[in-house]
Formats: sequence, structure tokens, C-alpha cells
Amino acid sequence: MLTPALDAVVQRIENAARQYGRPAPRLLAVSKRQPAAAVASLAAGGQRAFGENYVQEAQEKQAELRDAGLEWHLIGHLQSNKAAVAAQAFDWVQTVDRAKLVPLLAAARPDDRGPLNVLIQVNIDDEASKHGCRPEDADALAAVVAAASPRLALRGLMAIPAPVEDRARRAEAFARMKTLFDTLAVRHASMDTLSMGMSDDFELAIEQGATMIRVGTALFGERPPRG
Ligand SMILES: *Cc1c(COP(=O)(O)O)cnc(C)c1O
Repeated sequence: MLTPALDAVVQRIENAARQYGRPAPRLLAVSKRQPAAAVASLAAGGQRAFGENYVQEAQEKQAELRDAGLEWHLIGHLQSNKAAVAAQAFDWVQTVDRAKLVPLLAAARPDDRGPLNVLIQVNIDDEASKHGCRPEDADALAAVVAAASPRLALRGLMAIPAPVEDRARRAEAFARMKTLFDTLAVRHASMDTLSMGMSDDFELAIEQGATMIRVGTALFGERPPRG
């Protein structure tokens, strides 16, 4: 029972994976600014993992969808004063970009929830306006997260490359992420996730080795304005 948009995205993923000889990545449905009913409809179509940018918005939808057995990922910037709530509300936090967050998340993770899955957000294009650690700092940050096991599980890296028109430049940013991921994964056996690629470039990300893509618009349509 697929919704047409979910069906189309799954088809695009399978086509790209086949074309580029890569395993099909996991699909994270980005539901920011979409109502709980839209999440419920994709969930009925078989989609399980959902990404949200704001802690409070996510908590409101989680309250409405409590028994749906969904997996929630935080993909928006995490402020230190929200870390404790995030460690309880989410299954994954994809935006750990500084060491200061690590003890805050670990201390607040409930014992009975199992480890909080963590991705390190890397500012791969060194954009001043963007969050994420510098690529050269990812190694040290990965060690800090790994040391917080078993409260935290270091699962991999996440990036939002600069939205440049030039597809070759975007592909090159994805490729640098893949190289960094492979380098760190040698030292950290728990690393299995490279989260990159959105609605308009996920095929490119799959070509370059993404294992998880984050798709909003292509699944839900245009987002309503913030309000
Ligand atoms: C909004 C968002 C997405 C999804 O973007 P679309 O272009 O709608 O697919 C993916 N990742 C992050 C971090 C986002 O904030």
C-alpha cells in the first residue's frame, strides 16, 4: 500500500542504485512543517523513518502518532539547551557538530531506550552560514562520540553540501564526504551510515555512496510556510 509519491521516490532510489551499482540507501522522510496526518499517510504506505528539524515540532507529531512504531531523526541544528530533550525524543540525532553536545546527550539518554544513534554533521563546503564541524575535526569528534558508548552509538556522518547549480561541484562534495566516511569507518566498526542527498540531488548522492538520503519535497510536496 504505497502512496504515489512514496512509490515514485522508491522507484527513483532503486533505479539510481542499479544504475550506479550501489546498495539502495535507507530513505528518511523529512516531515518538517508537514502535519501529523501527512506522516501517518506515508507510514500507512510503509515508510518508517521520519526526520524533523525542530525538537518541539517533532514532539507534537510524536504525541499524535505515539503507537505508529516510527523512528524519529533530528536533522536540524541542535542547541545545547535542547540536547537533553532531544536525547529522549529521538532515535537518531544527525546533527552532532561539537564535543560539548556529547555529555549532554549521553547523560539524558534514558537507560531503557538503548543507545541514541548519532551522526556527526560535517560542514563539507566550509560555508560560514552552515552548521557542522570542519572536515579536519570530524576524526576527533568521532572519538568523543565513540567514547560515550553505550549511551550513544556512533553511526556515521551527515552533510548538507552547498546548493550550487553546478552538479559536478555537488558530486565532488559528496565524494569528499564518502572519502572521509571510509577513512573514519576503518577505526569505528559501528559506522554504517552516510547521510547525504535531498529531493533534487539524491541520485547524485547515491552515485557517490550515500547509505541514507533525506527527502522532503519529493514525498510531501512543497512545504507550507513557517507559521
Ligand atoms: C529540509 C531538509 C531536507 C529535505 O529537503 P527537500 O529538498 O525537501 O528534500 C533534508 N535535509 C535537511 C537537513 C533538511 O533540513
